[in-house]
Amino acid sequence: MSSLYWIRRDVRLADNPALLSLLNDKHLLPSDLENKPQAANDAPKYALFISTPQQWQQHHLAPIKADLLHRHLELFATQLAEIGIHFIHLQANDFSDQVERLVEFCQANNIQHLVANREPERNEIERDQQVIEAGLDLQLFDCDTIAPLGKILNQQGEMFKVFTPFKKAWVNYIREVGVQYRDPPQSTPTSRSSHKKASLDQSQKSVPQSEPILFDYPRVDSSHWPLIDDVQAQVIPDFLANKVADYSQQRDIPSVKGTSCLSPYLAIGALSARQLAAQLIQRDPQVLYHSEHPSFAWLNELIWRDFYKHLLHHHPRLITGECFQTKYNRLMWRNDNADFQAWCEGKTGYPIVDAAMRQLRQTGWMHNRLRMIVGSFLTKHLLIDWHWGEHFFMSQLIDGDFSANNGGWQWVASTGCDAQPYFRVFNPILQSQRFDPNGDFIRKYLPELKNVPNKQLHFPHDYLSKQGKSEQYWPPLVEHKFARQRAINFFKQS
Ligand SMILES: Cc1cc2nc3c(=O)[nH]c(=O)nc-3n(C[C@H](O)[C@H](O)[C@H](O)COP(=O)(O)OP(=O)(O)OC[C@H]3O[C@@H](n4cnc5c(N)ncnc54)[C@H](O)[C@@H]3O)c2cc1C
Repeated sequence: MSSLYWIRRDVRLADNPALLSLLNDKHLLPSDLENKPQAANDAPKYALFISTPQQWQQHHLAPIKADLLHRHLELFATQLAEIGIHFIHLQANDFSDQVERLVEFCQANNIQHLVANREPERNEIERDQQVIEAGLDLQLFDCDTIAPLGKILNQQGEMFKVFTPFKKAWVNYIREVGVQYRDPPQSTPTSRSSHKKASLDQSQKSVPQSEPILFDYPRVDSSHWPLIDDVQAQVIPDFLANKVADYSQQRDIPSVKGTSCLSPYLAIGALSARQLAAQLIQRDPQVLYHSEHPSFAWLNELIWRDFYKHLLHHHPRLITGECFQTKYNRLMWRNDNADFQAWCEGKTGYPIVDAAMRQLRQTGWMHNRLRMIVGSFLTKHLLIDWHWGEHFFMSQLIDGDFSANNGGWQWVASTGCDAQPYFRVFNPILQSQRFDPNGDFIRKYLPELKNVPNKQLHFPHDYLSKQGKSEQYWPPLVEHKFARQRAINFFKQS
């Protein structure tokens, strides 16, 4: 009987337990074996990806992220062929249509058993349930988080409500259990011959052949971002060898490439967070024992990633758009459309905000410090609902990831778990002076301000007016002190 690996957010060979189980049980760890993997056999093995353009649109998938995914699927299809697995792409509209296409494919190819790596979001869980109800034997594995979901709990057996104790429990868990990372499968003569056999069987049974992968979805060129095999060979070793120790000094400066820039690969599943954690800990096991260790600041960010995923697992209501602090569901946001448009287009009159928004629109990426500044500006200065910002980010970001994006937006809007308290409102001028003192970042994205002296650059209106050049730049949408007080009153009264 043929077998099937269903590709979802895991377009990678490394650390892919579902793929390993399809190939050969001996690759599995004892924790995987609890899931009773199927016996290996010589029948054709397929890997199926089902694109869902309608669903992607509803989830605001950015065209640049669609392109990165597309390029990685093409790479993955070739890599899978090397290990004897035939890649198939199908298209469906949404989740339920996806189930129908999957069931049809399985029936046509005599597949009863399929494997996949778990996606922890609510719609995805329901979709998997529908597959099981349709009579297929779907076996799920975990590889999305470093610490498995449900394992990091407080003394009452519940999910932590703030980050710091979660982090402590996380570190203790990893010290005890380690990181369950799996090496990629190797291409072997047996797997190559089984691939040939699979191809023969396909022609006999008229199974769909590997064809160019066509997405019925807009794509924006992502070739500025190398493919994961280059990232694995160069970017990650270089970051771990030369940059991670300086991360805490460099990470907040947007004009410097001081962070790893790995989020796009993590978001589409071309890279495993467990691999990164395992490599970091292997290089320097002390990172788990000293929080002042130079590399800990970076590990800390990987723990934030886990934190938001664990949070979503324990609070599935977050996927429906609820605030973590439910009292804020009733906030009556100002929601001025013209202000929102100005924010999206980088025309707020605050250079650091505008340069950041232009970075996002031009490159599909934004530095973390800037995400906090523009998020705070939208929700606190303009009193616009954080969901508007959340959706706009998803529609632009190459690394759009529901849990990190939702967590980040709720953090800046002070509605979330471990949120910035509402009375702390980022001052965009001070943030700009502190993190872009010479204006290197601002000048890159706002060339119209390139001749403004550093001192005046962060809020150039008086300077431009004295020069008779006010029309060179947008007037401020709102005055900072006024906006700050308005935001504090808004939250206090709600
Ligand atoms: C409003 C807002 C929205 C955000 N939206 C997203 C998003 O859609 N997708 C996304 O991956 N990150 C998001 N983040 C988190 C963070 O900005 C990015 O993960 C980071 O900028 C990615 O750059 P990097 O890969 O160089 O990260 P590094 O600094 O090198 O960190 C390594 C990895 O840790 C994880 N990480 C780092 N910071 C955070 C964080 N604050 N929360 C969760 N995980 C983190 C990422 O996976 C990142 O790749 C958001 C933050 C804010 C404030």
